[in-house]
Amino acid sequence: MFNTKSLRLIFFGIGLIAVVALTAMNIYSMHELRKSTIEVAQEDKKNQIEEFTTQVRFRFFQPFRSIRKLDIEHLQQYYDDYNDFPDAFKDIMIDASLDSIFYDIYYSPHGEDHCLNDSYPMYKFNTQNRQFEIEENISTQVCDGLGLARSRMKVLIDEYRWNNKASFDTHRSMTLSMINLAEREIVGHLIFTINQDYLVNDYLAKNLIEKFGPSDETGIVVWLRDFMQEEILASSDPNIEHNRDFIDIRQRFPDLLENWSLHAKIIDSPTIAATNASLFRNLVVLVSAVLALFGALLFMFLTSKRERELAQRQAGFLANVTHELKTPLAAMQAAGENLSDGRVTDKDRIKSYGNHIYTETIRLRKMIEKLLDIARVDAGHNTIQLTPHKLQDLVQEYYDSHEAYVQSRGFRFELEAEPGLPDVLVDPDHFETIISNLVDNAIKYSFDDKEIKLSVQKTKTGVSLTVTDSGIGIPKKSHQQIFEKFYRLEDSMTAKTKGHGLGLSIVKKLVELNQGSIDLKSSPGKGTTFIVEFPVYQLEAETEKEMERHYEYVNKELQTSDYVK
Ligand code: ATP
Ligand code: MG
Repeated sequence: MFNTKSLRLIFFGIGLIAVVALTAMNIYSMHELRKSTIEVAQEDKKNQIEEFTTQVRFRFFQPFRSIRKLDIEHLQQYYDDYNDFPDAFKDIMIDASLDSIFYDIYYSPHGEDHCLNDSYPMYKFNTQNRQFEIEENISTQVCDGLGLARSRMKVLIDEYRWNNKASFDTHRSMTLSMINLAEREIVGHLIFTINQDYLVNDYLAKNLIEKFGPSDETGIVVWLRDFMQEEILASSDPNIEHNRDFIDIRQRFPDLLENWSLHAKIIDSPTIAATNASLFRNLVVLVSAVLALFGALLFMFLTSKRERELAQRQAGFLANVTHELKTPLAAMQAAGENLSDGRVTDKDRIKSYGNHIYTETIRLRKMIEKLLDIARVDAGHNTIQLTPHKLQDLVQEYYDSHEAYVQSRGFRFELEAEPGLPDVLVDPDHFETIISNLVDNAIKYSFDDKEIKLSVQKTKTGVSLTVTDSGIGIPKKSHQQIFEKFYRLEDSMTAKTKGHGLGLSIVKKLVELNQGSIDLKSSPGKGTTFIVEFPVYQLEAETEKEMERHYEYVNKELQTSDYVK
């Protein structure tokens, strides 16, 4: 159902998808792990902040916890009888007035609101004589707190379970309403004015630093913010500035300090930093591994594709070569038979038969030579005789002996050589093979514009031979492949010519054996230029021994060269 090629592609695709899926899964789970670590750390910080606000609340109520145990009915009775409070109650007031968080304590009996009618008295606690004494100068701070507490209690009085209820007027005062639960009525209000300076600077600021600073150890900064005034009152780390847009946690105080809230920013704590670092490390390792895997997969895919192509071309070559060896032989056999029979007597026909045999022999010889060349180059047993030569002389020699032939094929054949060029070290036989293959190609792959130009020039590091034609050209994507064995372009023009894709692979190998390099410039439809360059021979001034050593080296290189089939 599937041929090998599509199977290979399918497996390659499955391999790629598997690698991509595995990588994506890994990255996703690493990311999730990091997220949950950070979330746990954040949750933990959130709890700490919540706990902090509860502690602050507790701090305000600390002096009054024992009021709950008092019998408020009894207290009311006592007050009605003696216009004073029992000692147990006064002890509590003493405790509260010793707490720096409060300034003063005021008492306003229920129903006699001084703030509404100043003919009613308002009392202030005097710690010295443990008495509530009438106070004339009542500040708005006290009246505001009292007013708030009264209106709150109106709503709560019928359902409230405890015998006292604290109400806060922001951070200015705390009012404790005492409740006679049996009668469901308010006995009186105790107003505590709050020492804001102490509260912020001595209590909250210090506790914030103690609990949450310094940020590089705890991984968090917490600010106390007055959001009505838009002002930061205290911070756990003064080095870090508050920025409303980058706050991770916002927390209000429960039932108290209504204008204030805590803002917190999570900074990379050691845990989060470690998680980030490990995520980064894992990603780097994973990406490198995946790239290596991709590379290996692609390499295997490409090499197997190449090998397959090479095998196909090799098989094609064998079939062709057999056919092409047989064709000239058959032609020669027929011509020879006719001649030997004596059947042909006409002089002209004898000559034409002779010519035929001659050209076919040359074709056969050329083909056998090429086969031998490739066999030698493949086996790495090519003998090399590197000797100093003037490249322009070798090219001139070739030109002189082939000019007539090339022109007979309808070509304009030119040679241009710079005079006085330095010597290069080449094997002249190899050079002959190189140049004749290049000219051969130029002839074969030119159809309309028939011109070939040879030129010899000095380059930066050596001397070069260029062979330029105005033929069909070679597309850029095939510039590498044409040097591979058995490779021929698959276009209709190339199809009109005969060949096995061996010439350029032999040329390249020989150029390299002679320490040279080969390159080409070509644009399809316009023509091609092959440039072969050999390094300048620089041993002239040295002794013969050194020269010998050089030859030895080159010959040794040759023996060990591993030309891949
Ligand atoms: P062989 O040289 O073995 O008889 P060939 O000429 O096809 O056969 P190469 O000389 O190796 O093989 O060339 C390989 C391919 O490169 C050719 O088939 C042709 O498509 C392309 N080619 C080589 N030289 C030229 C050129 N001068 N102009 C255009 N195409 C060329
Ligand atoms: Mg060729």
